[in-house]
Amino acid sequence: ADHSFDYPLCPQQMDWKPHYPDHAVSEDAGVEFADIGCGYGGLLMSLSPMFPSCRMLGLEIRVKVADFVTDKIIGLREQHPGQYQNIACIRTNAMKYLPNFFTKGQLSKLFFLFPDPHFKKAKHKWRIINQTLLAEYAYVLRDEGIVYTVTDVLDLHVWMREHFTDHPLFAALTQEELDADPVVSLLYESTEEGQKVTRNEGNKYLAVFRRLPSDVLN
Ligand code: SAM
Repeated sequence: ADHSFDYPLCPQQMDWKPHYPDHAVSEDAGVEFADIGCGYGGLLMSLSPMFPSCRMLGLEIRVKVADFVTDKIIGLREQHPGQYQNIACIRTNAMKYLPNFFTKGQLSKLFFLFPDPHFKKAKHKWRIINQTLLAEYAYVLRDEGIVYTVTDVLDLHVWMREHFTDHPLFAALTQEELDADPVVSLLYESTEEGQKVTRNEGNKYLAVFRRLPSDVLN
């Protein structure tokens, strides 16, 4: 039940220090990347050394999985002194509490890797990409921030692409932009789900969008 979720009433009340205890950046450095439904955290662990001064957070709804990721990060920090200080994981329902954690325009990257497909039409409202939630994603992303999505489910890929394309505050990256982005190559294989899809010889569909400046609405 919801009362078992720990979340701040507003982002200003969130104490990040316990999550990044030895991350040597300025006091007011905030989380910049969010991995929504991070699962076992493979993406965070791959991204961590690429952007050492940038704080990243995985959000995961399953208690055991979130605990596993937190323990794994602590272990990595112990094994590799000075490294993996910029990643953390919290257990939360990202569909409900994102604006409790992040202020307007705080994030530069949002990741949705292999989100749950919720195949049946009656369950589509549970999809983590939908009209209402896109407004929230636009809110927490800064101008020019990037949203990355990958799925092995064609129907979900088409669904996500349509929702982002229809939204006035998002535009798809061009192929040249995708080729120039060092993060893109990590999206397919860094996570446990991505590796499972590879083992099962499944397809992977990528869709990446830029958050447009709000003045496009004027
Ligand atoms: N991104 C990971 C990967 O690629 O391996 C995990 C993919 S898994 C298919 C989807 C994950 O999203 C699960 O770990 C699930 O618990 C998590 N999830 C589903 N709904 C969520 C929500 N509302 N908030 C946070 N996490 C959620």
